[in-house]
Amino acid sequence: MTILEEIKEGLPKDAMISEVLYEASEIILYTQNREFFRNSTKPIKKIVDKIKKRIEVRADPSIIKDPEKCKEIIKSIIPKEANLKDIYFEPEFSKVIIHAEKPGLVIGKNGATLKEIKDKTLWTPQIRRAGIIESELIRSIRKMLHKEVAYRKKFLHELGKKIYGEKKEVEWIRATALGGFREVGRSCILLQTNNSNILLDCGISVGSTKKPFPYLEAPEFHIQDLDAVVLSHAHMDHCGLIPYLYSYGYKGPLYSTAPTRDLMAMLQLDYIQICQRENRKPPYDSRAIEEAIKHSIALEYGEVSDITPDMRLTLQNAGHLLGSSTVHVHIGDGLYNVLYTGDIKFAPTTLFQPASTDYTRVEALIIESTYGSADAKQPPRKEAEKLLIDTVKETIAGGGKVLIPSFAVGRAQDVMAILTMSDIDVPIYLDGMVWDATAIHTAYPEFLSNNMKNKILHQGKNPFVDERLHAIGSQKEREKVFEKQDPYVVIATSGMLVGGPAMEYLQRFAPDPKNTLIFVGYQAEGTLGSRIQKGWNQIPLKKNGKNEVLELKMRIQTIEGLSGHSDQPQLINFVKKLKTKPRKILVDHGDNSRALELARTLHKAIKTETIAPYNLETIRFR
Ligand SMILES: [Zn+2]
Ligand SMILES: [Zn+2]
Repeated sequence: MTILEEIKEGLPKDAMISEVLYEASEIILYTQNREFFRNSTKPIKKIVDKIKKRIEVRADPSIIKDPEKCKEIIKSIIPKEANLKDIYFEPEFSKVIIHAEKPGLVIGKNGATLKEIKDKTLWTPQIRRAGIIESELIRSIRKMLHKEVAYRKKFLHELGKKIYGEKKEVEWIRATALGGFREVGRSCILLQTNNSNILLDCGISVGSTKKPFPYLEAPEFHIQDLDAVVLSHAHMDHCGLIPYLYSYGYKGPLYSTAPTRDLMAMLQLDYIQICQRENRKPPYDSRAIEEAIKHSIALEYGEVSDITPDMRLTLQNAGHLLGSSTVHVHIGDGLYNVLYTGDIKFAPTTLFQPASTDYTRVEALIIESTYGSADAKQPPRKEAEKLLIDTVKETIAGGGKVLIPSFAVGRAQDVMAILTMSDIDVPIYLDGMVWDATAIHTAYPEFLSNNMKNKILHQGKNPFVDERLHAIGSQKEREKVFEKQDPYVVIATSGMLVGGPAMEYLQRFAPDPKNTLIFVGYQAEGTLGSRIQKGWNQIPLKKNGKNEVLELKMRIQTIEGLSGHSDQPQLINFVKKLKTKPRKILVDHGDNSRALELARTLHKAIKTETIAPYNLETIRFR
């Protein structure tokens, strides 16, 4: 008996089900019976308990209210304080999407307001938080998903049929290192069983021109057999090449959290622009990014989803970046569990909770090692935050300006939060996509640390909405900032001083010893940032086609300890805190010596098999 037949059997006679469809791993029943729609919780729960799949009942389109009437009803039910922003309809799914600044008020106590909307309109309401800062990008992503709703309905149903299709016994499990092993960049892992092929991340080494892409030409990888792509987080070394898969014929799902999806699209669009500015051919165009979004499936932390007949996926908080997640794959029925950490921070930070260690079982662990060696120990975060604030204050007191080059996503918001929560009282300018990334942060406060969530949602203190913060969006606005004589702080991209508006500020600020350049993030070998850290003070520059030398007289300060990565003690602690001891540990995402050292140290500390594979190696788990 198929699952759908089993469900039909458990339904009451008068349920009047017109259609039973999959939405990926979820099962949707469309009913023509109003009463059943309103009161289906009990009979459905019985079926769910039996078949252990998620089921949702929706009204058949033939019985739902006309959208205009529905809108009126919704507006009359929702309290004004919810700050309703937008209502739109997806009749294909019998869903009404309600955007509000305070979603909690739309949901009501124990969901009472939602239930009222549902009972009165027969539409199935879905509530989304409208960001406090307007973001064109989030709006266009949501619009696109909305526009493609007919395609998505078909896509999700076909996907569900595959997921619940023929189930063969799991005979073997293995992982192939396609990129990001004994190096940082182009992270990509192929996880296979005799039934399934999935990719964990598919990144680009942005700094490298020689070998920027993972080994997709490896004999193990066939794009036509690929069942799913799972994305841990939105940094380019993890998501950079995903659109390329779609432009080469992949039409399957892309699993991630919602903020990861939005940040990913933003960074990929920016990457295309950077390539064009540098006269390089980007590996894909914006249509490929749209295809990726069209096939995206957003998961919450802790939500368990079947993704192939023998794999079940759970994403959990990784503490590294907004929406960043560890990837837990449960294989077979209780047979084997693989945990891929992606990039993790196993310590509390200003913005995030430490990475989750809450997994029932982990047999194989794939863990990052960016700061995996003992010599890369990070100073305590409190000290780092104090040094940052002190350095800014000293510069201001001396009448100087501060430049903080930063990656647009992550560190920039971290630094913003530290500065706005301090008593520094000069303007803080944000340049180069930092604002868009910040807007995405304000749309997903539930992904932030408990402390930050509490501040934003309950105390009305939002570190990203502060009168000291100003976005710079054009050259004209930039010129105005350059003219200012009084002290100020600029947070600008790129984080390693390889292009971007940060370069323009550097040129203006460099000759004046009153000014300070503060490095807050990792400076990769070969970048201008790393050279300045090593003591370069004569910087060759091309200005209007002519070669010039920029004298660097400003103060240079590097602040360690604000990293979104774990150092060695934190990584070991993470593994020790897992509920079960992994039988095999693979170390990735660290240069040669750090990957090796972490593998050695973990072996001693945990007494289990550890490996630091090279790219193109395959490890059999079972
Ligand atoms: Zn990362
Ligand atoms: Zn990374």
